[in-house]
Order: sequence, then C-alpha cells, then structure tokens
Amino acid sequence: MYDLIIMGGGPGGYLAAERAGALGMSVLLAEERRLGGVCLNEGCIPTKSLLNAAKLYAHGREAARYGVIFEGARFDLAAAMAWKQKTVDALVKGVEYQMRRHKVEVAAGHAELLGVGRVSIDGKEYEGRSIIIATGSSSATLRVPGADRSEVVTSRELLEIDRLPERLVVIGGGVIGMEFASLFSSLGASVTVVEMLDTIVPFMDGEMAKLMMKSLPGITLHLGARVEAIEEGGVRFAKAGKSETIPADLVLMAVGRRANVAGIGLERSGVDFSPGGVRVNERMETNLPGVYAVGDVTGRSLLEHSAYRMAEVAVNVIAGHRDRMRYDAVPWVVYTSPEASGCGLTEEQASRAGRAVRIGRLQMRANGRFLAENGSASGLCKILVDAESEALVGVHLLGGLNSEMIYGAAAMIESELRVKEIKEIIFPHPSVSEIIKDTLWEMELKESRNA
Ligand code: NAD
Repeated sequence: MYDLIIMGGGPGGYLAAERAGALGMSVLLAEERRLGGVCLNEGCIPTKSLLNAAKLYAHGREAARYGVIFEGARFDLAAAMAWKQKTVDALVKGVEYQMRRHKVEVAAGHAELLGVGRVSIDGKEYEGRSIIIATGSSSATLRVPGADRSEVVTSRELLEIDRLPERLVVIGGGVIGMEFASLFSSLGASVTVVEMLDTIVPFMDGEMAKLMMKSLPGITLHLGARVEAIEEGGVRFAKAGKSETIPADLVLMAVGRRANVAGIGLERSGVDFSPGGVRVNERMETNLPGVYAVGDVTGRSLLEHSAYRMAEVAVNVIAGHRDRMRYDAVPWVVYTSPEASGCGLTEEQASRAGRAVRIGRLQMRANGRFLAENGSASGLCKILVDAESEALVGVHLLGGLNSEMIYGAAAMIESELRVKEIKEIIFPHPSVSEIIKDTLWEMELKESRNA
C-alpha cells in the first residue's frame, strides 16, 4: 500500500510526487510515455527553445539600427532542433533525478483508476491511500474534410519538422497558434492565421489583443473565419459569407486542448467528470474520497504553473494542511515577439462582473530601458484598480520581453496591494518593470486633471 499513487508524470504529476516525497510519503508515479509531460517534451520548453532561436535571428537582422552589423546571418533549423532536444533531454533527466531524490517509484505504463484507493498500471493492481489524477490534455482537432492530410500537423509534429515551411496556415489564433505564427514569421515564412472569433487569444484583454494584432505585421490574420476544408490547393474558409482559399505547404491545427478523461477508468470508478474535465473543488478533491485531480485534466487554467500550484494544494490537503487553489492571480504569457503577458481581470471581465475599476495606461516607449532596447516599437501597460478598495486587480503588458516581470504583478494582486503601497515599492532603474509604478502615477495624474 502506497501513501500516494499518481496517474501521469507531467508537471502536475511530477511536482505532486516531488512534494509528497519530500514530506516522507511513499509515492508511486505512473507514466506511459516520458516523464515531463507535454510541457517538457512537446510544449512549453521545446517551443521556447525554438522561439528564442527565432528571436535571436530576427534581432540579428534588425541589429544594424542599434549599431551592430551581422553579415551572412542565417537560420540553421537542424542546429536549432538539436539545441531544443538537448534542453528537453536535460530537463527530463532533471525530473528523473528529482524522482530518485525523493524516493518516488516510477512505473512505466498506462494507469487506470479502478476505484477508491485502487489503480492498475498496465493491468497490474496497486493500492494507495490517496490517488491523484494528472493525465493532462491533448490537442483538439477540427472535424473538417482534409483534416487527416499529411500537411496538417498539431504543435507536437510541428516541433519535429526538418524543413521550414514557405507558407504556413495556422487554424486557431489562440496562444499556440500565435506563438507558432510569430516563430515562423520571424524565420521568413509567409504566415496566415484563420480564427473563428473576432479576436485573437480570446482570454486576453480586448484592447491589448487589438494592439497585439498590430504589433505582428508579418502575420496575415483572418478573423471571424470558419474553416470549411483542407484541400490540395490549401485551406478553404468562409468569412462574411464568402469562401476563400489560402495556399499552404504546412497547416497547423491549434484549436484548443481537451482534457484526457477517456480510457483512464473514470466511468467505471464513478468519478464526476465531463468531456471538459474532472470536477474538483478548491482543495483539488473529486467526488470520490481520497481521489484528487490536478492540472489540465481538470479543464481549468491549462497552464503549467497552474498545474504546479494545483499539485501543491492536493499534496498539502493529503498531508492534512490547510490550502486551497485560487485562480484570481494566475499570470500568463504569450511568447510572441513582442511578448504579451497579464494577470488578473481584463476590462471585459471587470465590466461583466459589474465591478467598478479605474484604468491606467502608459505606452511602453515612455520607459527608458524599453526605449533603449526597442526604440518606439508599440507596447502598452494597462492596469486595472478596484475603484472601491484601491487594490490592483489586473495588469496587462505588451511589448519587448515582459514575461520575466509579470510575476511581480501576480505577487501584488495575490497580496491585494493597493495603489498607495505599490507606489512605495522601489523598482530597479533602468528596468521595464518601472512601467507598472509609472502607469499608476499616470492614472492618478489623468484622473486629477479630469476631476
Ligand atoms: P486556445 O483555446 O488558446 O485557442 C484556440 C483558438 O482556436 C481559439 O481562439 C478559438 O476561437 C480558435 N478556434 C477554435 N475552433 C476554430 C475553428 N473551427 N476555426 C478557426 N478557429 C478556431 O487553444 P490553443 O492555442 O490550442 O492552446 C491550448 C492550451 O494550451 C490553452 O489553454 C493555452 O492556455 C495552453 N498554452 C499556453 C501557452 C502559454 O502559456 N504560453 C502556450 C501554449 C499553450
């Protein structure tokens, strides 16, 4: 009998194993493919390796305006892929090391829940006092004629290509779609995104999404466009009652991800779930005693860092500590070039919730460090403050590299810091992070002038 059996060795699963092992629990972790899950093997990490290479290449070409001339710069896809693989392998080894370090037993095989306290791994039965379901998610596919053609790929296959496409069509302008569109556009491909809605990255603040579209001039966008078929000639879609075809030698299907709820024994064991995911409460408990679910399989906040936090909550609850999952201050980043990031409420969410907010805006070029490194490229910091409590409730950034600073906003929102308190924080100068404080000053200045 194990203290804990975990189904799935992605970020949610391996972090739960690590935390539980550190608390002295006996842990069995089942993984049918490779430790690290989608994030390490075919998601965040490989994408960021390639995006960094593409950004270096693009910056190299633009470097003349900063006084640096590169001659004969070229992009070597094979070398970039080798770098990506080296990074992935090193991180997977790191996870394997953490499992050994925390005395976690890893079982290679397919796990199925048999009922409370019981799991089978490749048909062999194991018992555990607690069980965590962390089976992740998979790429959704569009059921249109031609979806099975050889040039149609998901992000997983796109990370393994050996030749750059000349004409890439991306179906779906969400996070995956826009990151790959930006990557291949930086590498010189002609890129078209076909998105069903009237905006890209639907969870983004609408104003920021509009600005982001303008900041990616190399990408052709078709919004409000519904794909009808993928054919010999390219991708056919309907927009405003008209049918159009865009030629493509590669088509990326990026229309969302679905929780992996099939074939893992949920029906048989009576776990409450829907195609959207396993239902959990804020303690990550399912309806079955001692059975928890974390990460993408819950269908909530499909982000690696959310899975990490959910795993910590589940393990703390199992260990008898008080903890709960909160989703109000989950930061997110879209690693396009320029990057977009955010945390907390968007203007639309605040308005839907009937919440009175004050809004501050400041162009990124008002910041010295940003201007020195990006020129007057477009970029914006938009901040939402609760009108009543004066607490920061939303921060949205676009421009340059901002992924490393959004955690600061998450800390401020999570701690419910008010404008007055943020203004007392000393930010390093020159750094782009100063834009957060400056936006608050700007908001107050504008308000006092309009009063
Ligand atoms: P998504 O839900 O972000 O975007 C899918 C997009 O496809 C939506 O804009 C949707 O309107 C569009 N779409 C759906 N059906 C369509 C159709 N028939 N024709 C045209 N467009 C259509 O999903 P994703 O981009 O596939 O990403 C999956 C998940 O992975 C997301 O939840 C995301 O949070 C996560 N992810 C995060 C990061 C990151 O944090 N940087 C990176 C990659 C993926």
